[in-house]
Amino acid sequence: MSATLFDAIGWLVTNDTELGSGSLGVRERAALVVDDGRVAWVGDAGAAPAADDRVDVGGRAVLPGWVDSHAHLVFAGERSREFAARMAGQAYQAGGIRRTVAATRAASEDSLRTNLQQLVRESLRQGTTTIETKSGYGLTVADEVRALTIAREVTDEVTFLGAHVVPEEYQSDPAAYVALVEGEMLDACAPHARWIDVFCERGAFDGTATREILWAGAARGLGRRVHANQLEHGPGVQIAVEVDAASADHCTHLDDADVAALAGSRTVATLLPGAEFSTRHPYPDARRLLDGGATVALATDCNPGTSFTSSMAFCIALAVREMRMTPDEAVWSATAGGARALRRDDVGRLSPGARADLQVLDAPSHVHLAYRPGVPLTWQVWRRGVRV
Ligand SMILES: [Zn+2]
Repeated sequence: MSATLFDAIGWLVTNDTELGSGSLGVRERAALVVDDGRVAWVGDAGAAPAADDRVDVGGRAVLPGWVDSHAHLVFAGERSREFAARMAGQAYQAGGIRRTVAATRAASEDSLRTNLQQLVRESLRQGTTTIETKSGYGLTVADEVRALTIAREVTDEVTFLGAHVVPEEYQSDPAAYVALVEGEMLDACAPHARWIDVFCERGAFDGTATREILWAGAARGLGRRVHANQLEHGPGVQIAVEVDAASADHCTHLDDADVAALAGSRTVATLLPGAEFSTRHPYPDARRLLDGGATVALATDCNPGTSFTSSMAFCIALAVREMRMTPDEAVWSATAGGARALRRDDVGRLSPGARADLQVLDAPSHVHLAYRPGVPLTWQVWRRGVRV
């Protein structure tokens, strides 16, 4: 593979404070060399070592590719009617997930794969070079294995979410479903996943079941993630910290002990403002988490029910405008923060040794992502050193 020089970068976000200024390690009038799919060199424009190819960025901003650490992309159907009903004043009901479960079970493997590939391409075009995706719309052993197998074709960051909701056929005996998830279903699914996740919420899984399922996953070698404290205050965040989860996701309803627990742990608070946007719920208090010392990631939660967006730029704009994050904090959370939430150090930064996943914005800096909301600013996307 040949070396490529990215030259005339007006504004380079490295996320490495030794390479530039501020928390994003910004370097102006910079250049970057990619070799063999990795970042090989970062420095001043005009001072770069020789390379085989040269890309003139024309003074634009270069950022690490987005790391979208929370998405649900293996599903069939769509739920725009439900969205319209909510916007007309109806409350969000968790039961909507079961509609997608029915559609997903009925769908062919090929149609699920086509839908997934389309969403991954849509994300990639918008600068997302690492994406996590979950199962959770199958909820039988065979349907969960099918979802994970398809997901693994497009990403390494695959999460088993058999504990999404209790399916219709187990409504009268939810304990039997928990036993299935942590027994036969987990045995079948663990070889196809890196992570296990539980929707810890009233109407989904309580603290006892959440703990049990996560420990069962840990015993099969899976990393832990938790859908925690989305619709009301609950035990999810504390359990996430207890099981050393890489991430507690949503974190909308927290008390002081939750913030302190996150700040004192390796568990990242992943905020998903697309969900609050799409359900008209209050946004999580990002400032409280950041000021309290927690690590914050931003992700899309892309799913057909409560957040059908693949746009990390949109989530950044929401985080800045509605959650009082600074543009620097939001961009860090959508790149380096997402990498932390996946316990990765090869993505989410542009410093020597990192994977050459980068995006060129047709803008002079990352601030334009929130300053010019809704405008397609992605000019080029490169993944592992190859133009997408
Ligand atoms: Zn989710």
